[in-house]
Amino acid sequence: MTGPAIWHPFTQHGLREPIPQVVRAEGAVLHTADGDEIIDAISSWWVTTHGHCHPRITAAIAQQATQLDQMIFAGWTHEPAQQVAEGLRAIMPDSLTRVFFSDSGSTSVEVALKMALGYWRNTGEPRDRIVVMEHGYHGDTIGTMSVGARGVFNRAYQPLLFDVTSIPFPHDGTAQATYDALETACRQGAAAFIVEPLILGAGGMLIYPPEVLARMHRICADQGTLFIADEVMTGWGRTGTLTACEQAGVVPDILCLSKGLTGGAIPLAVTMASEVIYQAHYGPDRATMFFHSSSYTANPLACAAAAANLAIWRDEPVRERIAALCQQQTDHLNALAAHMRVCNPRQIGTITAFEVGGAEGYLSDMAPRMLAMFRERGVLLRPLGNTVYVMPPFCITPDQLARIYAVIREVIDHLDN
Ligand SMILES: *Cc1c(COP(=O)(O)O)cnc(C)c1O
Repeated sequence: MTGPAIWHPFTQHGLREPIPQVVRAEGAVLHTADGDEIIDAISSWWVTTHGHCHPRITAAIAQQATQLDQMIFAGWTHEPAQQVAEGLRAIMPDSLTRVFFSDSGSTSVEVALKMALGYWRNTGEPRDRIVVMEHGYHGDTIGTMSVGARGVFNRAYQPLLFDVTSIPFPHDGTAQATYDALETACRQGAAAFIVEPLILGAGGMLIYPPEVLARMHRICADQGTLFIADEVMTGWGRTGTLTACEQAGVVPDILCLSKGLTGGAIPLAVTMASEVIYQAHYGPDRATMFFHSSSYTANPLACAAAAANLAIWRDEPVRERIAALCQQQTDHLNALAAHMRVCNPRQIGTITAFEVGGAEGYLSDMAPRMLAMFRERGVLLRPLGNTVYVMPPFCITPDQLARIYAVIREVIDHLDN
C-alpha cells in the first residue's frame, strides 16, 4: 500500500499533489494544521453561504444534538423537519406545496426524476423520456450522470447510463435552436425537462439570460412536459436572488435544493413538488406511493441547521449582503477584464467567471498548475479547466475579496514561468 488510506474525490493520487489538512474554519477563512490561513473563494465547493461555523447554525446543531439525533422518517415525524417544511413553504413559490427530504444534491435530483416518472405512470399516461441541456451537471450517481453531460468523467460508466434527449446550450444568438429542439422533444411526449436555471455550474459556469429560461418553461408548460429546476448550486442567493428561477418569473413543477439549504454546514436536500405531482401518488393504493427513502432522510441535526438557515434569511439583512457582494464582484471583474489573458469575463449575481487564454479542456495541465499556485498564495480556487470562477460566501470582507483578485492577477501573470 502506498500513501494514507483515504481515497479522495476527484483526486489522482498518483500525481502526489499535496493534500493540506484543515483544522478550523470561520467566516470565509480556513485554518490549516500548518498554521496557514486560506481564503475560501469557492464556498467550499459551492455550499457555504453565510460563512463557515455561523454561530446560529452551529448552535442549532449543538442544541438539536442533545434532543434528538436521528430517527426513521417513514411513518414518523419531528419538529425540525416541520420547521424546515414550513419555512420553505413561506419563502418558495406557493404552488410548490410538498417538501420531500433527502441527503445531497444528487439524491434530490434522483428524487425529482423518480417523481416525474411516477407522476406519468400514476396518471395513466406513461412517459419516460427526460430532456436535458448540453453541458448540464446534476450529480455523480448513475441517474444524475445519465441526465448530465457525458465526458471523460463518466466514460467508464457509459454502459450503465440511460438514454436522454439533449438540447443545445443557448449561446448568444443561438437560443432559437434550443427552443426548437426542446419543442420537438416535448411534442414527442417528453416526461420532464431538467435544467440548471441561468447558469450551468460544473459545465463551465455558462450563463444564459432569464428570457431564455422563461421561454423554455413556457414550451414545456404548453406540452405538459414537467419542468425540473435543479437549483442545487443556484439556490440560496448565489445568482443574486433567493432562487435563479425568480429572475425569470418561472415556477418549476419540481425544485431541487441542497448545498446552501443548511448554510453549507451539514448535508441535506429537498425536492419540492407541485400539488398535482403529489396527488398523482396519493390514494388508497400502496402501489402508487412514492418509493424512495434513505436511512438519514430528514436527519434532525441537518434539519435544525436548515431551520437556522431559514431564520437567518428571515431575520438578517442577507439580501443586502448579497447585493453588496454582487457590486464588489462587478467592480473587481471590470478591473480584471482588461487583462490580456482574461477571456469572456462574465457574472451572475455573486458569481464571476472567465477563461484564461492559452489552453483548453479539463485535463489541460493549466488547471492543476493554477490550483497549486492559488493554494501557495493562500486562496482556495479550483478552476474548471481554464475557467476560473469566484463564488465566495456572502460574509466575505472587501479586503478578502480584493486579496482573491490580487492573487488571480499574480497567478495568471506568472503562468508561463
Ligand atoms: C453540486 C450539484 C449537484 C450535486 O450535488 P451533491 O450534493 O454534490 O450530490 C447537483 N446539481 C447541481 C446543479 C450541482 O451544482
